[in-house]
Amino acid sequence: MSLLEIDGLAIALPTRTGVRRLVDGVDLRVEAGEVVGLAGESGSGKTLTALSVLGLLPHGAQTGGQIRFDGRDVLALRRRELRRLRGADVAIVFQDPTTALHPMIDIGTQLTEHLRVHRGVSRKAARARAVELLGLVRLPDSARALDAFAHHFSGGMKQRIAIAIALACEPRLLIADEPTTALDVTVQAGILQLLDRLRRETGMGVVLITHDLAVMNVTADRLYVMYAGRIVEEGATRGVLDSPRHPYTRALLDALPEGDRHGRPLLPIPGEPATPEARPAGCPFHPRCVHARPECSSRVPELVTLAGGRAAACPVDPLRGDGSSVELARHRGG
Ligand code: SF4
Repeated sequence: MSLLEIDGLAIALPTRTGVRRLVDGVDLRVEAGEVVGLAGESGSGKTLTALSVLGLLPHGAQTGGQIRFDGRDVLALRRRELRRLRGADVAIVFQDPTTALHPMIDIGTQLTEHLRVHRGVSRKAARARAVELLGLVRLPDSARALDAFAHHFSGGMKQRIAIAIALACEPRLLIADEPTTALDVTVQAGILQLLDRLRRETGMGVVLITHDLAVMNVTADRLYVMYAGRIVEEGATRGVLDSPRHPYTRALLDALPEGDRHGRPLLPIPGEPATPEARPAGCPFHPRCVHARPECSSRVPELVTLAGGRAAACPVDPLRGDGSSVELARHRGG
């Protein structure tokens, strides 16, 4: 049994003009001690997929499928059970640490509150643990930091504090939603190294959400690429990034401003991402896909298992421009 198992997750939101399908049939696994990346452009469903694990979907959202955390059916949990899950077992770190930290409450109180509510420890023990936690995320002068307020710290330090708060109750799963997007490159590297160290030292599973494949490359063990609410490619990160099997993953890599493009020029992805209001029929990527065929506008491609623990939702191999290698793997049962 995996730490987190998501099967056939569907999320829809009723609106005045109809029901919008935001996430559609997502299957995902996270093991203890593993960093799993969720990549894709804004609006692809990454964050909603992650928020569903915490029961934090927008009001009125309809869900289908199953989410099991440590064997527990998350979608069936009552409000009080969900609160316990959020505080003690699954934690989240958001993109902007400024909004995650209360500006009028000192850091020590924000840190110890979690411990006192979810662990029932004394004020003194909670404070000692808070110093330990700030040391764990390598915040300098951690004892003094407890009496300081958010505005006393830089962006990178605030994100370290937000991570310390998330780790306060020793969660078994950490969801990090674009945790480094608002930070400069050197601070970003420090935060990613911190996440990597923490999962190795604590055995915590991590779901890392980012549109940045360069970040995934150095952090995630496995990668799921999402487009228009679906998983379009998955596999070990190195394999997916070295030889993408879905044209969308290939297009994301070609659009990277830096990195190893083997001399290929930078190519922005044409058009706009498909929105839930105007999702094209057939493969939702077809209006932007350089490999699109006539049948792509009428048939939704299934996620097909390939050799080497890979999967892709496209019959075309973007490295070869035809469907032969996928068909071959299907034939072999790979
Ligand atoms: Fe492109 Fe067609 Fe594959 Fe969709 S199914 S990614 S449109 S080739």
